[in-house]
Amino acid sequence: MAKSGSSVVVVGGGVTGLSAAWWLARSGVEVTVLEKGIVGFEASGRNGGGCTHYQSPLFHEEQRLWPQMDELLGYPTEHRSGRIVFQVDERKANFHEGLAMRIPAGYAWEVLDGKQVRERVPLAGDNAISGVQLHFGGHANPQRTSQAYAWAAQDHGARIRQHVAVRGFEMAGGRVSAVETSQGRFGCDALVIAAGPQTGQLAAMLGHHLPMAPARAEMIVTEPLPLMPMGGVDGHGLYGRQTLRGNLAYGGGPHEWYDDIALESPPPRPSGSVLRGLAKRVAELLPRAAHARVIRSWAGVIENTPDGRPVIERLSSPDNVTLATMSSVGFGLSPASGHAIRDLVVDGVCSFADLSKLSLARFAELSPDWRRELNWLPPETAAASQGASR
Ligand SMILES: Cc1cc2nc3c(=O)[nH]c(=O)nc-3n(C[C@H](O)[C@H](O)[C@H](O)COP(=O)(O)OP(=O)(O)OC[C@H]3O[C@@H](n4cnc5c(N)ncnc54)[C@H](O)[C@@H]3O)c2cc1C
Repeated sequence: MAKSGSSVVVVGGGVTGLSAAWWLARSGVEVTVLEKGIVGFEASGRNGGGCTHYQSPLFHEEQRLWPQMDELLGYPTEHRSGRIVFQVDERKANFHEGLAMRIPAGYAWEVLDGKQVRERVPLAGDNAISGVQLHFGGHANPQRTSQAYAWAAQDHGARIRQHVAVRGFEMAGGRVSAVETSQGRFGCDALVIAAGPQTGQLAAMLGHHLPMAPARAEMIVTEPLPLMPMGGVDGHGLYGRQTLRGNLAYGGGPHEWYDDIALESPPPRPSGSVLRGLAKRVAELLPRAAHARVIRSWAGVIENTPDGRPVIERLSSPDNVTLATMSSVGFGLSPASGHAIRDLVVDGVCSFADLSKLSLARFAELSPDWRRELNWLPPETAAASQGASR
């Protein structure tokens, strides 16, 4: 276990690694974050900002922490509470059925009819059919939040080294003793690998199979519009938020699958066809915003695991290594994932949640062909694998 004064290297300066560094540093642990690019420049700064993951074992901690994060970090995250989800497709009118089974007890929510949706979401139109208002969850600004973690971690003494790519590990006595990088060697007592879609490749260097399927996802941003009472509005296959300045920032499928992501690759570029599809669906969801021009767009890589759940585990061998990759829910869960990683590194066990569902062991029986079975391959790879099996 890492004691106060021991040194922890965190690979990856996204929200998971930065939150872990902040939690560790405020516990008195000496932490260095190694980031191949710039902090928050990958998925962590490019996502929808949603903080509402009621199906995760980390949900209660996510909900407990977000309303306090500006105060705890000392920098703004632009967190806002609550969310409305509504539909514009008759076939999904009863989408809320089953939510009562999925939302844990103690979290309030209500069903809305189309009129109530229009009252609460002024940019919605006559096509709004039904919705739900969640009186929990919310959204925050991904770029501000990434920066806030980095600054807060540094305030507690953490070192953040940008443009340092991790390429391998040195072992001594069955443990990782140092990290090999593009800028030389960094010794460590404990290691956290929170490298987003590259976590699987780094885990493989330590002899662990962490199945992952990276995919490109995209977002668009409109010019500012009058502020709605609640900025977190989803539906019609879209997720997003209205920024404090009034811009609508929205993303949604389809995911475009990659075979793998090179260890040191830059973020992907958006594609015109996905962006046009997103703009069309935003206009359908929020017809009173249909006139708004799209002023920005970007793409990011989603780090999917086969069951869509994160992996957060302190390995038994080497036993000074903790893996954390978040499978598309890492922004919202970041206050809690950092806390969990801190607990695993310092105490060997998470103090507030049962992480057994997030362990690697659940993939022990995974079919070697799982990506093809889930249809999670790029079209050219799927075609090639079909040709080969004929
Ligand atoms: C378009 C989009 C929308 C999303 N919407 C939401 C949402 O609304 N809510 C939500 O909770 N989640 C959302 N997500 C998912 C969320 O963004 C991720 O789960 C989260 O950002 C993961 O954070 P991370 O720090 O684990 O990984 P990343 O943000 O990927 O950070 C990993 C970091 O590790 C660095 N790295 C990788 N390899 C190396 C190496 N070899 N050496 C050094 N550094 C390395 C990378 O440069 C990167 O900065 C969305 C993602 C996308 C792309």
